[in-house]
Amino acid sequence: HIYLDNNATTPLCKEAYDAMQPYWLESFGNPNSLHNTGRIAHRALAQSMNKIYTLLHASDYDDIILTSGATEANNTVLMSTYYQFIHTGKKKRILSTQVEHPSVAHTLEFLESLGAVIEFIPVNEQGLTTPEMLRSMMDDDVALVSVMWANNETGLVFPVHELAAVAHEFGALFHSDGVQAIGKLPVDLHASGVDFFTFSAHKFHGPKGIGGLFIKAKTPLTPLLHGGSQMGGRRSGTVAVPLIVGMSAALEVAVKNLDKNMAHMSYLRDKLEESISNLPDITIVGKDSPRTPNTSLVSFKGVEGEAFLWDLNEHGIAASTGSACSSADLQANPTFRAMKISADLEHTGIRFSLSRYTTEQDIEETIQAIKSSVSRLREISIVY
Ligand code: PMP
Repeated sequence: HIYLDNNATTPLCKEAYDAMQPYWLESFGNPNSLHNTGRIAHRALAQSMNKIYTLLHASDYDDIILTSGATEANNTVLMSTYYQFIHTGKKKRILSTQVEHPSVAHTLEFLESLGAVIEFIPVNEQGLTTPEMLRSMMDDDVALVSVMWANNETGLVFPVHELAAVAHEFGALFHSDGVQAIGKLPVDLHASGVDFFTFSAHKFHGPKGIGGLFIKAKTPLTPLLHGGSQMGGRRSGTVAVPLIVGMSAALEVAVKNLDKNMAHMSYLRDKLEESISNLPDITIVGKDSPRTPNTSLVSFKGVEGEAFLWDLNEHGIAASTGSACSSADLQANPTFRAMKISADLEHTGIRFSLSRYTTEQDIEETIQAIKSSVSRLREISIVY
């Protein structure tokens, strides 16, 4: 079995699995309890939090709240922006891009129904948004600019640092969904200048159901979840100690070996792309733009994405037609549309997303499978 769908989710690493073990059966306490069982859990929580602050380069004055994942973190930022600025009549506008994950895109749609003005910074034909494009849309009525760090479908990397600076010039806050950045790109939250940053453990070989939101020092936030005042009152709910221990262990491995892993993934990704680039009528999306080292979105003219995926699956290869979250409905790929990629390619994108565990043999077998699959599917295609 060859797993090339790591942008959807990654296998748990052994280090995270081992680190979590004591916190299921023995040290099961609630970190808010004052007895010894609680204290042990509290200590584990504090140590894990310290690790996360250090590894992501947050300062002690910043806040990191743990959430059930990136979907909750994204909802928290956007709903908070609504309560803080839109509902109170202080500001009206939120700017974002057309290629955000549904956990941002659909939340923005909801805020629009509540009266927020949502506008999209265009992406150019390389799939990117430039600081100039953002500047031309800014005024002091913008409450928040939300632009992902790296795109889950194409791997394209946005110039977050520069975009955050433009947002700040006009007194707006800046949020970045960084889910696809960790373990694939260096992330220094302090240097990046972002006010909010979203992350999710299961995208960097941590457990599912845990993630977090970075909140820069002194940034106002209205909680999404009200209750027992955990996380300094910013996110209530009993903390999932085993999951956070697993997340911090996974983050440690991902960050410590980042250079080596980036080189490994980009070597294999480039090998895959080079080996298929001589096939006729293929487009590698964003090939000449900054991308995460693990992602390749390739379009084979005349080869319908779902059929291709099915055929690859028969070869034991797991890939995706783009975003796993929307691959069940047969919508044309929104990234393709935003990048003005011609309509006849809209349904043909296949995403290969590698991890540090992908091997050279995996890629060699995948190259062979792609070649035989593409020629067979083109033979029986009525449009090619
Ligand atoms: N943002 C991006 C860019 C993603 O790729 C994903 C996962 N597909 C999410 C948010 C949602 O993450 P979670 O599964 O932790 O809710």
